[in-house]
Amino acid sequence: MVLVYTETNNGQFKKAALEAVTYGYKVAQAMGTSCEAIVIGDASNPAQLGTYGAAAVHHIKNDALAHFDSQTYSAAINEVATATSSKVVILSHSTTGKSLLGRLAVKLNAGSVSAANALPTIEGSSFKVRKNVFSGKAIAEYEITSDVKVLSLAGNSLKPEEVNLTAEIKETTVTVPASRVKVTGTNLQQGDLAPLPEAELVVSAGRGMKGPENWGIIEDLAASIGATTACSRPVADIGWRPHHEHVGQTGVAIKPNLYIAAGISGAIQHLAGVNSSKCIVVINKDPEAPFFKAADYGVCADLFDVVPKLTEAIKKAKG
Ligand SMILES: Cc1cc2nc3c(=O)[nH]c(=O)nc-3n(C[C@H](O)[C@H](O)[C@H](O)COP(=O)(O)OP(=O)(O)OC[C@H]3O[C@@H](n4cnc5c(N)ncnc54)[C@H](O)[C@@H]3O)c2cc1C
Repeated sequence: MVLVYTETNNGQFKKAALEAVTYGYKVAQAMGTSCEAIVIGDASNPAQLGTYGAAAVHHIKNDALAHFDSQTYSAAINEVATATSSKVVILSHSTTGKSLLGRLAVKLNAGSVSAANALPTIEGSSFKVRKNVFSGKAIAEYEITSDVKVLSLAGNSLKPEEVNLTAEIKETTVTVPASRVKVTGTNLQQGDLAPLPEAELVVSAGRGMKGPENWGIIEDLAASIGATTACSRPVADIGWRPHHEHVGQTGVAIKPNLYIAAGISGAIQHLAGVNSSKCIVVINKDPEAPFFKAADYGVCADLFDVVPKLTEAIKKAKG
């Protein structure tokens, strides 16, 4: 069986969770087995996962799991994976998934691959998974030879697809080990826009903005297309923008359909987190800016001139 751990936000499944279930369903089909899902805590509509291919949903409600802790959560997922003899366990490649992957692989004595970006190639007992390596400059194929496999799926690697199964909802109890972590508070990001790791449209800006007071034109451009905003690292370091917007090697790695970068030079550490974007548009006044080499479309001009005009043109086109 294939087991997918699904993440929620305020009781709603994240887009990454639906992607993971679609992925799990397709892996299960290729293996000639079924896909089931696991959700921990509040989930207003667990049956929704059937729409994307889960034959059953193991719903765990336990006060000891009220806050995410990779030790307790990995123990809970391990218990369900073991009880269901799951051969493949799939997580989202989110902050949560990243912190679960290693622990779960050790518990299940499984080989693991993080940030898989395509369906595995399954031929007989051979199970090969692809992922980006060397800051997205190459793709590596890994063969997992262990009986049980744990994967995390990079965001935006495939679209959630409706297959309309009716999921059986199983209220599941697990033994939760004592936690060695005490959560003293949580601070959720507010707003309707997709969080950066899930965003399909991203408008980002860097030091070329000159100061935080100028960010209005970036926010207007982002609002005109419903994009999430991001920034380069120095901009977050000097406090012009919040740290959760920082993308790159040491920030969030993203894979949107569209990444618009204004006033960002395109240093390798920045590219490491964004060069899996499907379409990159660079606005920079320096024709030698390295970002142009990675761009699908480049505008060599002053951003303070181009960005408002682009927003205007988008608004006009949208009527
Ligand atoms: C270990 C390590 C990890 C790092 N991790 C990250 C990371 O995760 N993410 C990250 O972003 N960086 C990271 N960095 C920093 C990275 O090396 C660069 O310094 C940084 O990305 C540069 O940010 P920037 O492009 O905003 O600024 P700058 O390099 O100062 O570039 C500003 C750009 O704006 C352009 N510009 C200026 N004015 C205008 C205008 N009016 N119109 C149009 N264009 C204009 C300039 O031509 C220039 O290209 C890391 C560095 C190290 C050493």
